[in-house]
Amino acid sequence: MKRQQIRSAILILSFLIMSVTFVYISPVIMMMGLSQGVIAAGLIFWILMFILAFIFGRSFCGYACPTGAEQMIIDRAVKINIRPVPYLRPLKYLFAILWVGSITLLTIAAGNLIFNPLFQMGIGIPPWTLATYVVFYAILLVVFAIALVLGRRGFCNYFCPMSVVFMVITKIKDLLRIPSLHLKAQPDDCIHCKKCDTSCPMSLSVEEMVKSDRMQNPECILCGSCVDICPKQVIRFAWLWKK
Ligand code: SF4
Ligand code: SF4
Repeated sequence: MKRQQIRSAILILSFLIMSVTFVYISPVIMMMGLSQGVIAAGLIFWILMFILAFIFGRSFCGYACPTGAEQMIIDRAVKINIRPVPYLRPLKYLFAILWVGSITLLTIAAGNLIFNPLFQMGIGIPPWTLATYVVFYAILLVVFAIALVLGRRGFCNYFCPMSVVFMVITKIKDLLRIPSLHLKAQPDDCIHCKKCDTSCPMSLSVEEMVKSDRMQNPECILCGSCVDICPKQVIRFAWLWKK
């Protein structure tokens, strides 16, 4: 199976099992836990994802995020390109500051924290409480509506606070040139067909990135669509920062 088929299959699986994994990865449930002095499974999950981002950049967004999967499914069904709305751009940074700030304040306020990976899990299959159902369906609906109104990966582009944390880590790893997954290009081989632009789920100007030989864009989720679609194999993945 080709890389993009595998990626789509993993994303669809991640979406299908979201009703099981949600309590373990939801940032909202994690916050609810901290407000009650509980370290929920989600906190450990996100700390792990952020550590892995020093090696794999934003691959989690490209290969495993259930909300990314939901947006991919909507994009395949309706094919709406991202609508540029510049005044919405600062929103995800604001949400990220509020999110990280709230986590810090809640942790300080809680004093003694206890670890409870079963937080918000009631009895039954899926073992949820009413609050969990409300949060789950609210998130599904919000992401669905945003993707329909703003287009391709609209939620990632304009609202996702986790994406900002991933972007900061990606920027740090790229600046420090930590051996890690990144894109590399051979600009001289480019025929400027712009197939990479149309294939990019994050609506990046990949051809411009190639032309300027600046392939490190914090919005890049390292999905490899541009790598796989390029007819001249101009773009490739690399681990080490060799010229
Ligand atoms: S798909 Fe390849 S050849 Fe076409 S514009 Fe992009 S990098 Fe250049
Ligand atoms: S630049 Fe390439 S690897 Fe990065 S998000 Fe766009 S298509 Fe995916």
